[in-house]
Amino acid sequence: MSAWPPVYDPDYYPTPDEPYWNRALETMDPQEREETVILPKLRAQLEYCYAHSPFYQRKWDAAGVHPGDVKSLTDFEGFPLVTKDEIRADQAAHPPFGSNVCVDPIRLGRVLGTSGTTGRPTAFGVSRDDMTRIANAHARIMWGMGIRREDIVFIGSFFSLYWGSWGALVGTERLGATAFPFGAGVPGQTERAIEWMQMVKPTVFYGTPSYSLYLAERARELGVDPLRDFNFRVMFFSGEPGAGVPSTKRRIEETFGAVCLDSGSTGEMSPWMSNGECAERRGMHFWQDLVYSELVDLKTNRRVPYGSEGVTVYTHLERDSQPMIRFLAGDISRWEIGTCACGRTYPTLPRGIYGRADDMFVVRGENVYPSAIEDELRAIPGFGDEYRIVITRERTMDELIVQAEPLPGLEAGEAARIQKALADRLKAKGLRTVVRMLAPGSLARTEFKAKRILDQRDLYDELAQG
Ligand SMILES: [Zn+2]
Repeated sequence: MSAWPPVYDPDYYPTPDEPYWNRALETMDPQEREETVILPKLRAQLEYCYAHSPFYQRKWDAAGVHPGDVKSLTDFEGFPLVTKDEIRADQAAHPPFGSNVCVDPIRLGRVLGTSGTTGRPTAFGVSRDDMTRIANAHARIMWGMGIRREDIVFIGSFFSLYWGSWGALVGTERLGATAFPFGAGVPGQTERAIEWMQMVKPTVFYGTPSYSLYLAERARELGVDPLRDFNFRVMFFSGEPGAGVPSTKRRIEETFGAVCLDSGSTGEMSPWMSNGECAERRGMHFWQDLVYSELVDLKTNRRVPYGSEGVTVYTHLERDSQPMIRFLAGDISRWEIGTCACGRTYPTLPRGIYGRADDMFVVRGENVYPSAIEDELRAIPGFGDEYRIVITRERTMDELIVQAEPLPGLEAGEAARIQKALADRLKAKGLRTVVRMLAPGSLARTEFKAKRILDQRDLYDELAQG
């Protein structure tokens, strides 16, 4: 490696028939990549952090680790994890961007953040140079999705604090495709999206999986057929795990006649597409030379072997503003290596992200992942895309209730069939549930992340104590 952080040629494009944006890096022997690409970048990033970030100076001194000691990626596993709460607390103590901002404020190009629906929001102060590198990273991964310069990329998500929309936009622009930053969330905007999709015929869609399915449902209500009247070829998603759930993927592909691709780590870690599926769509790759991603065992904080399940931990390799080193994102997945037909040699998550340490809930002592319930639901013909999981406590027993809507216009008796099929499928998975069918359209729709889990046990506890 010559210089750190890397400088990218703004005029570089692969030839259109080239499957890789950077063939050498993407198809390199994994061991060689770790030693000759990732480790040198990591060491430079660590030295930079230690020199510019009081946050890491304090943290690493307290843990007795030092960048100079990192001779291998195994050595690096001795570095402590960084939690979201720790970042929030640091920003509260050193507003607005915390003691990890690392660059002169004059170099910050953009402010983004988390929505802060649960607690204090996290502010992202992103340098201009980081934005450029993020754009290059996203362009490379979007190229791997099969997106080319002829494409028109419809961005159907909020343009506000949300990194997802801006990340898709800068990637599209660097790739040289046509950006259609439509946005979402304004009343009536879904109907306008349906109109514009027929008019402009965008070929690529970005948003959340639940919003794409809502949009399809609304289109059909308006007499528009998403398969016939839209022109999507590639649809990529982040913000929710749905696009990595096989049945949801199938549903989106059948609805739109497009390839459905999963992507996304978390806003703190932008370039967030460093978890991203290629056009083969066999699970997200960890694009590890852009962000060094690990699956770790939380008992030891060390990497789990390939083939095993672990929790996502991410490390920036080319960020000069707010670099995150061993950031504990808390998503649960299993990884493999060298199994994708695309020829990329990155680790792959064949089942995507299938749980979040904080999304998972425990019912009667069983770990339950919402995505497992969703997977069973979507496998049942006649299910209408919307559902909610409600957990209550009757005296001391937890009760798991799944509320689901059938497709509109089904014949009498069909709802009962879906109800029984789902109860049987969940029972076969060892989950005792009460399935309730609701009238089509009765659950609240969303243009962003669907709120599908309602845990009423805390409420019950409060009532019991009060
Ligand atoms: Zn691949």
